Amino acid sequence: MKKEDILVIYGNEPKEMARKICENASLETLIGDKNKKIGLKPNLVLPHKAENGATTHSEVAEGIIEYLQSKGYFDISIIEGSCVGSDTEQAFRVCGYTKLAETYHVKNIDTRKDTWTVHNCKGVEIKICNSALSVDYMINLPVLKGHCQTKITCALKNNKGVIPDSEKRRFHTMGLHKPIAHLNTVVRNDFIIVDGICGDLNFEEGGTPVQMNRLIGAMDPVLCDAYVCGLIGYEVSDVQYIKIAEEMGIGSADMTKANVMETDQNKKHIDNIKPTNRIQALVKDIKSKDACSACYGSLIYALERMKEKGISVKYTPICIGQEYRGKSGEVGIGNCTRGFQKSLGGCPPKAIDIMEFLSK
Ligand code: SF4
Repeated sequence: MKKEDILVIYGNEPKEMARKICENASLETLIGDKNKKIGLKPNLVLPHKAENGATTHSEVAEGIIEYLQSKGYFDISIIEGSCVGSDTEQAFRVCGYTKLAETYHVKNIDTRKDTWTVHNCKGVEIKICNSALSVDYMINLPVLKGHCQTKITCALKNNKGVIPDSEKRRFHTMGLHKPIAHLNTVVRNDFIIVDGICGDLNFEEGGTPVQMNRLIGAMDPVLCDAYVCGLIGYEVSDVQYIKIAEEMGIGSADMTKANVMETDQNKKHIDNIKPTNRIQALVKDIKSKDACSACYGSLIYALERMKEKGISVKYTPICIGQEYRGKSGEVGIGNCTRGFQKSLGGCPPKAIDIMEFLSK
């Protein structure tokens, strides 16, 4: 795997999908020496189950651990500190990581109880927890979700879990974007697997999960976050920290150079999360017939972003789903509606493209 590669795998079986991404990326070759200390950094912002849209499915970590142990890597730690006011130990327990640690004999490390040292992160001094700096290879496991302040949170922002509480508070006084970018000049981002199974519509603490049914593998955290922007309906320029991180040489946000490789594993899963009232209101003008979650989720994100911007949908109803294959109609989303008068291609299309299509 190369730095410009992005591996996307669809489905709703996170353990198998995570393992598959490790195999497709030849993670063993990327890591090398079997004695390396490996860290997994999930997002356990608070003790809520992953179905709620805020935290990383423990099955993602499980698939990676099984892969690593089958290749002879046994020094593995799960490293995370929940947000200020939350209890990381409780988050480990509620989110399935305590059981995971017992089953696979790996360590759970709470960075909120860790020691830290100050590091010069390209001109900004930041306290960083020593456990995160002691690993030889870090696998970042963010959730693909919206964020009320920074619009998205993914690979770059997930590393905020490896700084002490005092530093988390200071980051907010600094406006988040700049310190997040600077932090990533020192913390490791060797490999990334984004949990895009059901991240939240627009809030980092969950509550409105959107079924997107995918995992994303990447090596470049800047490219990873740039790619994710389009998936949930943002331009890269909407998320300041991505640009700042690129300017500091952490990676590239140039999507024209990205090599996106999609694997259609089980893509045809139909939504299995009960939509919240908020989502039901968003999709009232949608005619969905056997729509894949990957497609339907993109449309939900697009409609939410349009609502935020005050852009109204000019044509309704909007049709989406496999039942529209070979049929005619007026406005449709996805390759399945290619027989319609106006149809946006893609299987699934990105939210940013749906927004543009529906705004015309
Ligand atoms: S275009 Fe059709 S097959 Fe492709 S993701 Fe959408 S609903 Fe599924």
